[in-house]
Amino acid sequence: MKYIVVIDQGTTSSRAILYDLDGKVVAQAQQEFKQIYPQPGWVEHDPIDILSSVRSVISTALTEARVKHSELIGMGITNQRETVVAWDKITGEPVYNAIVWQCRRTRNHCLELKEYEHEILKRTGLKLDSYFSASKIEWILKHVVQAQKLLTEQRLCIGTIDTYLMWQLSGGRIYKTDYTNASRTMLYNIHKLEWDSYLCDMFEVPRQILPQVCPSSDFYGNTDKEILGFEVPICGVAGDQQSALFGQCCFTKGDLKVTYGTGCFLLMNTGDEPLSSKNGLITSLGCQTTTTPSYVLEGSVFVGGAVIQWLRDELKIISSAAESEALARTVSDTNGVYLVPAFVGLGAPYWNFEAEGLITGITRGTNRAHIARAALEAIAFEVNDVITAMQKDLGVDILTIEVDGGAVENNFLMEFQADISNATIARPKNREVTALGAFYLAALALHIFDDLAEIKLKNPIEKSFSPRVTKEERQNKLEGWNKAIKKSLL
Ligand code: ADP
Repeated sequence: MKYIVVIDQGTTSSRAILYDLDGKVVAQAQQEFKQIYPQPGWVEHDPIDILSSVRSVISTALTEARVKHSELIGMGITNQRETVVAWDKITGEPVYNAIVWQCRRTRNHCLELKEYEHEILKRTGLKLDSYFSASKIEWILKHVVQAQKLLTEQRLCIGTIDTYLMWQLSGGRIYKTDYTNASRTMLYNIHKLEWDSYLCDMFEVPRQILPQVCPSSDFYGNTDKEILGFEVPICGVAGDQQSALFGQCCFTKGDLKVTYGTGCFLLMNTGDEPLSSKNGLITSLGCQTTTTPSYVLEGSVFVGGAVIQWLRDELKIISSAAESEALARTVSDTNGVYLVPAFVGLGAPYWNFEAEGLITGITRGTNRAHIARAALEAIAFEVNDVITAMQKDLGVDILTIEVDGGAVENNFLMEFQADISNATIARPKNREVTALGAFYLAALALHIFDDLAEIKLKNPIEKSFSPRVTKEERQNKLEGWNKAIKKSLL
């Protein structure tokens, strides 16, 4: 038998998933690693921890499935985006901890750059924010003495997690990244498809030390036998959200996926033309399998499934997330209650960090079921606001939404999403679409599939949800939500 192994290097854990060539999961292993919070708002990972967790999950998955090294034919990598690592080209030793995407240490510095906001957006498709890699790389170069020393000796490597892993697993032979990861650094020009000199100058990052950028489905080089015990080509690489979009088979312009996790992440394929959003969304590169670039529009909702955790842990009106569905179904509607979970402000399309969370429309008859129902509806409303923004930017209606993430188990939420967005919700059989995307990318490079159409047949829809309400009913609900949002923005 032949297999492909995928590494899913996430923010809190690393996973290895072993696939047969049909895309079936044969084994998987997962390992958490330490989160480091040196100061309020700072988040770091130890790169050595990340690497050892990756090696360990690969070995566990192979042992569990009793797969021999000789049966492996390729490797895919999908990873937490924006997080950066710097290391020594000769010893491989990191010069500092990885600075994680969530880390806010460069926030003030980014505020100082406000006058360049428009230029940054034009070149990178991104909003000026400390979330992206550029200011984190700049911070390392300014504050870490060892980084400065290695830079003058021309032996400093710096990159996102995919680059770090490939470099380490190949024994220093691969120094590359893919378009999706590069497009999240805020140093990459998504139109010219090159590291942007103007931005590299602005963030004082020497352009020549940055890795080579390649299509997501490509031969990056081989893993080192000495390091992993086997030598296979790394041939599929993508940042987690773009990989999930590919795993959902959103190959065509207008295809959209929504991930309902702690937050909700929406990505839409906009084809080979970058759309610059007039509605608060950002533009990035998608998984590219040929020389033609592929662009995506992205919007995030900060609090998605987290509002259900809040019902469970703080209000204690449910004892498990799953219970929210049965409770919501005990009432026929929210009785005019709306909940806006702006716990940390509001993300796309509002981008308002001062917005406050609220529950409105409470009467003497309001009970916990109404609140639970309003919380679930709120997730769908928030997602719908981003979808509406995407539709405006694209200029056409979205008819189907591919979904994944923990909260899609909730059929009530899926039904309500279909109703409020007037679209069909398609929930696939295999919901682990992030890793699946990297598998497809690797498999394409290895010519296991002839084309994208063949891939589409590999992960059928488990259940779809069609809209069931009238236009008027939808408008009424949306009006109530928009009123509540207005109050939250006051
Ligand atoms: P993440 O990857 O962000 O950790 P997951 O995809 O694992 O998130 O999803 C977990 C989130 O989904 C939690 O916030 C949880 O409250 C929510 N969730 C899980 N199951 C349900 C459910 N049946 N109904 C509603 N929300 C759910």
